[in-house]
Formats: sequence, structure tokens, C-alpha cells
Amino acid sequence: MFVKYLKCNRCGREYKLDSKPVLCENNDLGRLDVIYDYEKLERAFNVENLGKRPFNMWRYIEFLPVPSQKYVVSLGEGGTPLLKSTRLAEALGLRNLYLKDETRNPTGSFKDRAMSVSVSMAKFFGFKKAAIASSGNAAAALAAYGAKAGLDVFAFVPDFAGYGKIAQLLYYGAKVFKVRWTEAEDPTVKMMRLVVEKYGFYPSPSFGVYNPYQIEGPKTISMEIVEQLEWNTPDQVFVPTGAGSLLTGVYNGFRDFNAVGLINKYPKMVAVQPEGNYPLVRAWRERQDPLNIRPWEKPPETIATGLEDTFPWDGDAALKAMYATNGYGVVVSDEEIIQAMKLLASLEGIFAEPSGAAGLAGLVKAVNEGLVDKDETIVVLITGHGLKDPDVIRKTAGDAPLINPSLEELKKASENYYKVRI
Ligand SMILES: *Cc1c(COP(=O)(O)O)cnc(C)c1O
Ligand SMILES: [Zn+2]
Repeated sequence: MFVKYLKCNRCGREYKLDSKPVLCENNDLGRLDVIYDYEKLERAFNVENLGKRPFNMWRYIEFLPVPSQKYVVSLGEGGTPLLKSTRLAEALGLRNLYLKDETRNPTGSFKDRAMSVSVSMAKFFGFKKAAIASSGNAAAALAAYGAKAGLDVFAFVPDFAGYGKIAQLLYYGAKVFKVRWTEAEDPTVKMMRLVVEKYGFYPSPSFGVYNPYQIEGPKTISMEIVEQLEWNTPDQVFVPTGAGSLLTGVYNGFRDFNAVGLINKYPKMVAVQPEGNYPLVRAWRERQDPLNIRPWEKPPETIATGLEDTFPWDGDAALKAMYATNGYGVVVSDEEIIQAMKLLASLEGIFAEPSGAAGLAGLVKAVNEGLVDKDETIVVLITGHGLKDPDVIRKTAGDAPLINPSLEELKKASENYYKVRI
């Protein structure tokens, strides 16, 4: 057991793991940061032992808050490939470009790492019912791990949530409720908060303020990257960003490996957000105080539905990570995101949803702006699978030409439609 205690990032109050802390008792919307005993970790975690462990995220169990293997609820998440890009790298003029393919996770996004840890902790604590506010990947992940663990999942989604996502949740057996947006406060977060306060449900959204454990899961992304680069640290990591929890987790993975002496530097942490909602990048540009980030004023407008958080719940830690690593923020348009999806699929064989390809859109922009040196080792996180969002795919992929079965018609259609002469 390597957790020393948990500490609220707003009031500093400390909690022992035995008291099953999830939210700060001061009701200050603080996140209970998990503090590890690095000296003990350094002695216990041996790189030589790794060879015997399966290549999934639980090979780094010492760096996770789950006290024992027996509580682990796993669907084989993590252990995703770090693909060395060739054709895309050449198109961008880069020599060392890597794609961390998180679309390979059990439910199709990196959120599985977060929810695997969260549900394991629910099992350890003995919760029977969990609640989440989300319309997308986090809810799908929680529902899947909930199904595996026998944990009842209550999912509150906005009334405009896409049916594709609701269907996935219903299949996993989640109790899904579409909540009308009648007031300023996010009604899904409100419902989650109410059932947590009134009925003692376990809150398990993908942001640290309501669940401090899940944010530990994405740490294993950077741990895998370091191991896959043969214990080297990349120079820059591009992260599609909404609540800032992913960026925080990935930074914390590098932090932990630094703390136990496995690496000795940090990559620049680069946050990529869409034009229609970029409160964190704006905070970075304006050098805002991390604990007082201004929320986005308007409803988010982007095809990247995983990046729609108008308030970056873990923005404080994400912003500090950007400041600490000399990182930066990039803003991309929906058009640039679609271009990135097409590049990724057609040059590298990876099909990502808009949020999943936004990091690459950010890299393309950063290269054009001279923020990337061609010899640097660059890692782009590809965070969610293309089939997650059939509505967007339908609108942006176009359709195939219809022909009669003849070579004449094939030649004509190939030229007219694809501009390819046979
Ligand atoms: C949730 C999500 C993100 C953003 O993660 P945050 O922790 O909200 O910043 C990026 N990509 C995909 C596919 C997601 O589902
Ligand atoms: Zn507090």
C-alpha cells in the first residue's frame, strides 16, 4: 500500500484512505489529491519485475490507489500500442512522431483506464450504486466496468445526448436518465450531486473534483509511453482537452516516474481545445490563476463532444502542469479536426472520433507555427474510436458512388468521384 494520504487541493484538509474519502467534507469543490510514499515506492517498484507482468495498465499497480490485486476490476484496459508514424510523420516533416492509440481500449476510449480504477475503488470501499454525469465516453466506460463488477450505474445525460451513446449505456445495463436543461447549473451534475448527497451513491464522473481515484488511471498512459520509448521521456505530448483530467493524469504519470528516479525530465504538456470551447487554453494565454479559471461563457460549439466542458474541473492541475513543463495551448477548428481525422485514417490506419483526433489537429497547427523541431520526439494521444460518433462520421465521410457492374462504369466513377484513373 503506497498511498500516504489524500489532500484537498483547495483547503488542504488531509484524509486517510481507510475513511473512504471521495469528496472534501468542507464542501469546497476541492479535489482530494492522492499523495504517495515515493521512498517506499522506489524500493518496491522494480523495472526488472515488469517483464513478468502482462502488458496492461495494472503492471504499474504500485502507482495506483487500489490497495490490492483482489479489488481490481479489469477488462484488459491499457497496454495500448505506441505506433511509430511513417507516412504522417513524413507529411509533417517530423522524424520521431508516435501515436498512442487509446482507441484500442475495451469501450473504445482512454476513459476505461479511469473507470477501471474508479470501479476497483468502489469495490474496495463496498459501494453498490454509482452515479455519473456525462453524455459520452466516461459513462460508457463506467457502465461497462459497473457491469463487470456488479455495481449499479445511474447515468445522467443531457436531453440532447446522441442516441448512439445512450444505446451503448443501456446495453451495458446502466440506468440512463435524460435530464432537461432548465437552469444555469449543469442539470446532469446536479442530479449526480443530489443522489450522492441524499442516497450515498458513489460519484464516478471523469473529473477529479467528484472522484479523486479515476484521475490516477490515465497516469499509466505516460508510464507506458516511457517504457515503450525504452525509458526515455518524449519532448512534447499533445493532449485533447476538456475537463483537463486527462492532461493532469498524464502529467502525474511523468511526475511519479520522476519522483522514483525512473526518468529525469518532463515533456512539454500541450493542451488542444476546439475553437467553440477553450477555457483552459484561454487561461494559459492569459496566465490566469489556476484556482480561478474563468469558465467558457457560451454553450460549447464543436463536433468534438468529448471536449465540451465549459468549466475545466481539473483545470487547476492541468494549468500548473502546462506552466511547469513550459507547455502551451493550441486551439483548433472543427474543420481542422475533420482534416486530422482523415489524415490519421488514410495515412496511418487509425480511425478516431473528433475528440480523439483533436490532438493531431493541434500538432499540425503547432508544426505550422514553428513550435515543433523536426528531431523532437513527439507523442500524440489518440483518445477515442471513430465508431463512437456515427452521426459525425455520416456527415463528414461522404458517400460512395453507385455503379452498374461494368469496368466502363468503374473507370468513369473512379475518375469522377475519387479523381483516380485506373
Ligand atoms: C474525455 C475525453 C477527452 C478529454 O479528457 P478530459 O479529461 O475531459 O480533458 C479527450 N478525448 C476523448 C475521446 C474523451 O472521451
Ligand atoms: Zn477541501
